[in-house]
Amino acid sequence: MKTRLRLLSPRFRDDGRAHVPLGPRARAVVRELRALLSGEEGAAARVWHRHCPLCGAGEADRIAEKDRHGLPLPVNLCPACGLVYSAAYLAPAFAARYYAGPAGAFKLEDESAEAAFRRRIAPGAYCWRRHRYVRDVLAAAYERVETVAEIGCADGCNLVPYVGDGKRAIGCDFDQARLAAGRGAGLDLVAGDLETLLAGGVRAGLVILSHVLEHVGEIGATLARVRRLLTPDGVLYVEVPGLAFIRPRADALAVDGYASSHDLLGYLQFEHAYHLDLAALDSFAASAGYRRLAGDEVVRAILVPACTSEGGVAPATGRAEDVRARLDAAERSYLSPANALRRALRRPYLLLRRRLGR
Ligand SMILES: [Zn+2]
Repeated sequence: MKTRLRLLSPRFRDDGRAHVPLGPRARAVVRELRALLSGEEGAAARVWHRHCPLCGAGEADRIAEKDRHGLPLPVNLCPACGLVYSAAYLAPAFAARYYAGPAGAFKLEDESAEAAFRRRIAPGAYCWRRHRYVRDVLAAAYERVETVAEIGCADGCNLVPYVGDGKRAIGCDFDQARLAAGRGAGLDLVAGDLETLLAGGVRAGLVILSHVLEHVGEIGATLARVRRLLTPDGVLYVEVPGLAFIRPRADALAVDGYASSHDLLGYLQFEHAYHLDLAALDSFAASAGYRRLAGDEVVRAILVPACTSEGGVAPATGRAEDVRARLDAAERSYLSPANALRRALRRPYLLLRRRLGR
């Protein structure tokens, strides 16, 4: 792949420095992973794209080289279709090992899996908003959903509202500690992935992929495979961290409790293979034979299998330029003197607030 270095700003260089505060466990995992990736084993840990995974273009602009934890993450913007994707994704064998262990260091630093589960199902937690969104979009069709299946469910918190509505719910994940926390509350959770559910004969009227699709190696192939899990009138709920939510502070957005940010580096994560906005998700969905019933830039979307696959979707003219312009504007906002002052004052402010016990 022919790659041009066009970093959004110097702070996206792969200098190994973390952008967000890390606890001791996360710092140790970052050191371990950096050593692994630069060693012999590193070559087998990741699969490198040879073409844009959406449009097949053989050229890319490299816009970032690291993630928020200071891990190497080469991020491309496709000049042909505007897709933002990681130049390499985690190889399946490495991904299974990574999600079963080290990944947890970035999620639950001092919190037990049980405490996290309780927090994630508390009143006001996102699982209730996700559920309400799905229920509102499906309206009367919601009542006909008998089985809900979630792939990459972690502790299964997203399934709790459906169980409360009398649905059968089943989830799968690789993280044994998180699975155990959900099972402890009576959820039906299995160790494994989509293939495990298919092998178990599961068919669902609603399949949930919440913060999963951005992790998979090949989105099109995964979406196509997920169709097998759906009943004939089944629907798919997809949620991914929306790239269009990275925007200048002056143009900030808040939707249903989700807030935008001007900090792309804070958004980038080593384990994310794709950085999608709604248009990019639409293109992948159409090429995998879905049409979208509803969606927003959070990103949340409800997809249904289409009668005929539309095949590849031609990229919209000027889309790559639009994506770049939005990310550049967000970065200018992040680097602005006003924001530098805000960041400089934040630490003393937080310390003072802690001293005052607020
Ligand atoms: Zn492309």
